[in-house]
Amino acid sequence: MLKRKNEIAIVVIAFLILFFVSQFASDAPHEYPKLLEIPWDHTPITVFVDDVNVPQHYSPTYRVQVEYALLYWETGGNLKLDFIPDFEIVDTDDADISIMWVENLEEVTGADEGVAGFCISYEVNGTYEHADIVLEVGNYQGYSWRQYGDRNMLLITKHELGHALGLAHSNDRKDIMYPAYEEMDDVNPLLLNATRPFLLVFGVGSLVVIGFLLVNWRRYKRKREHLEMELFGGDGV
Ligand SMILES: [Zn+2]
Repeated sequence: MLKRKNEIAIVVIAFLILFFVSQFASDAPHEYPKLLEIPWDHTPITVFVDDVNVPQHYSPTYRVQVEYALLYWETGGNLKLDFIPDFEIVDTDDADISIMWVENLEEVTGADEGVAGFCISYEVNGTYEHADIVLEVGNYQGYSWRQYGDRNMLLITKHELGHALGLAHSNDRKDIMYPAYEEMDDVNPLLLNATRPFLLVFGVGSLVVIGFLLVNWRRYKRKREHLEMELFGGDGV
């Protein structure tokens, strides 16, 4: 009984070591590069949200996601800004940041596949004079059209606002400035992000099963040897 417990303990420890090694091995040093340290020379930063000229699949809940995204950065965001932005939503299109939606970026602007939004900033004398954010409301998966849910819209908007606040792309997968929706050609980034936790659970589950199978096999082998000893008197067969 004690032996079996030891074996289980060894398997569990081996699995834990493997798990942590794999976690650390995949963690490159995180970088948070900046396009501009101080992107806006005034405050508040005015924002115009065009929820009138909207594409067919626009959802009124998207505007709310923009408001959440603005609040996200006003309350610290990803903690990589050296300033706390203060936004003011205005109703004129000469605002500092303009946000608009299109049906599909690939079709409307010829953007690369997988790009869900972009931000074009106009820099004058080291600060931004204006930034345009364009967001798509969905994309094609194969031939079928999929509309973005509010959660995706919030993530995309937070990311593009990060660019408008002077942040470049991070290599930290957990950071909002990781280009999860962009610059990935072959895989669907939405799908990949959604399946990552499941893949991890599946991997961990497989390891545990393999561990226990190994323990059982060793136990079976010992039992068999014991039986052979009893039956054949240890002559070997
Ligand atoms: Zn980006």
